[in-house]
Amino acid sequence: QTTKPKMHVAVLPSPGMGHIIPLFELAKRLVVFNHDIHVSFLVINTDQDNSTARDQYLYSTPLPPGLDVVDIPPVNVSDIVRDDMLLATRISVMVGESLKSLKSVLIELGKLEALVIDLLCTGAFEICGELSIPVYSFSTPSTTFLTLSLYLPTLDREVEGEFVDLPEPISIPVNTWEDFEPVPLKAIREHSFFLQLPTPPVYPIGPLIKQDESLSSSDEECLTWLDNQPADSVLFVALGSGGTLTTEQLFEMAWGLEMSQQKFIWVLRKPDDADASSTFFNVGSDVNDPNSYLPEGFLEKTQGVGLIVKSWTTQVAILRHPSTGGFLSHCGWNSTMESITHGVPIIAWPLYAEQKMNAAMLTEEIEVAMKPVKGPGETVVRREEISRVVRLLMESEEGEIIRSRVKKLRDSASRAVDNGGSSYDSLSCLVEKWKNEIKP
Ligand code: UDP
Repeated sequence: QTTKPKMHVAVLPSPGMGHIIPLFELAKRLVVFNHDIHVSFLVINTDQDNSTARDQYLYSTPLPPGLDVVDIPPVNVSDIVRDDMLLATRISVMVGESLKSLKSVLIELGKLEALVIDLLCTGAFEICGELSIPVYSFSTPSTTFLTLSLYLPTLDREVEGEFVDLPEPISIPVNTWEDFEPVPLKAIREHSFFLQLPTPPVYPIGPLIKQDESLSSSDEECLTWLDNQPADSVLFVALGSGGTLTTEQLFEMAWGLEMSQQKFIWVLRKPDDADASSTFFNVGSDVNDPNSYLPEGFLEKTQGVGLIVKSWTTQVAILRHPSTGGFLSHCGWNSTMESITHGVPIIAWPLYAEQKMNAAMLTEEIEVAMKPVKGPGETVVRREEISRVVRLLMESEEGEIIRSRVKKLRDSASRAVDNGGSSYDSLSCLVEKWKNEIKP
């Protein structure tokens, strides 16, 4: 009696919770979706990345059968990573150093039908070319961003050749769904002539969002507090894994929230005047005392109205709670997906990376967000403006219209991933393709 050979797929995210979370959720979905798939989830470890939130997420909950977490040998990058480097450059350096051992890690894993990477791990293409492993690139940002990325080579003829020379066709699973970004998806599929590139097949399989998590005592406290609030009455304030405010902006945010007289939960971090992504590599590890940087009197004045959580919380559990009625977010793509999937309207507070693009899309195109603006000549958004927008979202008729629009999108997202929905079918196609790759 012969046993059916399993498909073996490896998944490799670059450092950063915004990359690790959706790829880990993909890995989990794959093994649950099809029991003939074995997934090896590869983790990059460097001496610069000290996120307790990451370790908690990856190593503290039992894994579904068929999924293994495999640590790539750790590397020291302190000598080459400088504080003044752009975030994307720092991540690329970490990935570059770590991928020096990718070949031996992949050989050790044995036969693979595919390697799924994210857009900062493209160094894997060459190695996979040598090993004849097809590479799939998971787009952690929006399809709008992906379309732009695809267009870049036509602007820069020199890199065009690299796409053509790839040993395998590239397919792109995308964290979106058909009805959410129909225009860029159509652009990729139908306008390869316009893009002047052999555009790869795209598989919209999203939204892929964080599911179950273990709860800390402060998470439990937040959820119990939410249980005692009316439906849609609480604003959740969180800026992703890395986001931080300047000292001045943090003051304005605090008094703006207080002035709005709305209930809130605020994931609070020490301000940083130089870097808006200052907790990116130490998520959940920045132990600090909010009393030392919050404006005097703020905690007393907001007692019972606002809840402060230090550094990190289970965002999805909060967004899922029926009392949560708004999300002041930096508009990272995962946060965007999580908010929409739970029918929560957004106050857009973009900070870095492609967040401004997401914020523009959410406010102007999809119309599920409002955006506070700086006054002329101002370097920060003032408290009056913050309070105005918070009240508008939480209390006004305009806010109600946005809320009902996002609830419709929530239903569309849920239809997409259900059995027979567009994302479900897309994932089935992809798995079918891998099945055909199985070599005896
Ligand atoms: N997140 C969380 N708790 C927090 C802040 C963020 O669980 O206190 C999660 C959030 O649910 C999302 C991810 O971290 O899944 C952040 O990804 P996103 O793409 O929104 O932003 P990035 O951190 O990459 O800027």
